[in-house]
Amino acid sequence: MNTTFAPHAPTAALVPIVERIETVLVDLPTIRPHKLSVATMNGQTLMLVKLHCSDGIVGIGEGTTIGGLAYGGESPESMKLAIDTYFAPVMVGQDATRVQALMARIGKMVKENRFAKSAVETALLDAQGKRLGLPVSELLGGRLRDRLPVAWTLASGDTARDIAEAEKMLDLRRHRIFKLKIGAKGLQEDIAHVAAIKRALGERAAVRVDVNMAWSETEAAYGMAALANAGCELVEQPVGSAAALLRLMRRFPVALMADESLTGPASAFEIARNSGADVFAIKIEQSGGLFNAQRVAAVADAAGIELYGGTMLEGAVSTIASAQVFATFANLQWGTELFGPLLLTEEILVTPLDYSDFGLTVPTGPGLGIELDEDRVAFFARDGLRKTISTVV
Ligand SMILES: [Mg+2]
Repeated sequence: MNTTFAPHAPTAALVPIVERIETVLVDLPTIRPHKLSVATMNGQTLMLVKLHCSDGIVGIGEGTTIGGLAYGGESPESMKLAIDTYFAPVMVGQDATRVQALMARIGKMVKENRFAKSAVETALLDAQGKRLGLPVSELLGGRLRDRLPVAWTLASGDTARDIAEAEKMLDLRRHRIFKLKIGAKGLQEDIAHVAAIKRALGERAAVRVDVNMAWSETEAAYGMAALANAGCELVEQPVGSAAALLRLMRRFPVALMADESLTGPASAFEIARNSGADVFAIKIEQSGGLFNAQRVAAVADAAGIELYGGTMLEGAVSTIASAQVFATFANLQWGTELFGPLLLTEEILVTPLDYSDFGLTVPTGPGLGIELDEDRVAFFARDGLRKTISTVV
């Protein structure tokens, strides 16, 4: 440092600041239609954030939803609009190294918009990790594991096709936990579907279901008893409201998981206070960012609620942001479902993620530890070289 010549030089000039924020929508096809009770997805739209800092470092982040606006109040398009119009002016010129302070500043100016906040916080943490030469997990307190178990979702809508898909995953040693998306069809048909898959897989695999809030409370009471009989080990968000979820607790020998009703630390506290779930599906977007996901996990741990690392069917960027957080959780009893990139036909990273031996490897490089293939991103960008594809039916 040239303190001899400029002892009173302002230090502000040395602090890396946020110079520019770029957002892009990337439309990618899925390997097959993904059928949920809320939508059928034929593609996924990633909203990518590139945070350009004055020290030349570029942080990347991502926001996705499930089926456009079918899951909640935000869409990839609304995130882009919010970040371009409202986040960027609050962030540009600010110290890029003070991630929590900058997120607090954004929080004052922008209410809600949890998914967009998660994308921006990811980009800030990626940049800071690259700056310090540390993985994001270490900025978040340090990882406890380098590998995460990954469940696969069977959602083709056809029982025989789902069984064949599960057998293929077992043969490849890629997944041995299967989550079935049900709720779009009649109750009896759904239960027969789950029972047939569990019968075919036996003890070689675990079977869980996600109803995505499609059932009424009486349907859920009937359905959970039948699912427990069929050998299903966990039912995810069978009903919409947290109160109805609470009334279903401990009545059936099957674990009950909260997903949609979990919208951040305050909702986690409310559910925990009422013993309203056995398991939390934690998602960085739903939580409103990576730090908030850790706060949700802390509430769960304190209440004796078990943890599962959820996905918003993210691409590689948010999948790894999630993995970096989940790697820091003291408990992760139910593993994760970080399979999002495997549902997409196109690779957007220079080096693909390591899915092997029933798990995902958490990268050890600085920041998120991944690198975007910029040519591929440009090709699939909306208004890019490839025409936009329809993403939701
Ligand atoms: Mg779910």
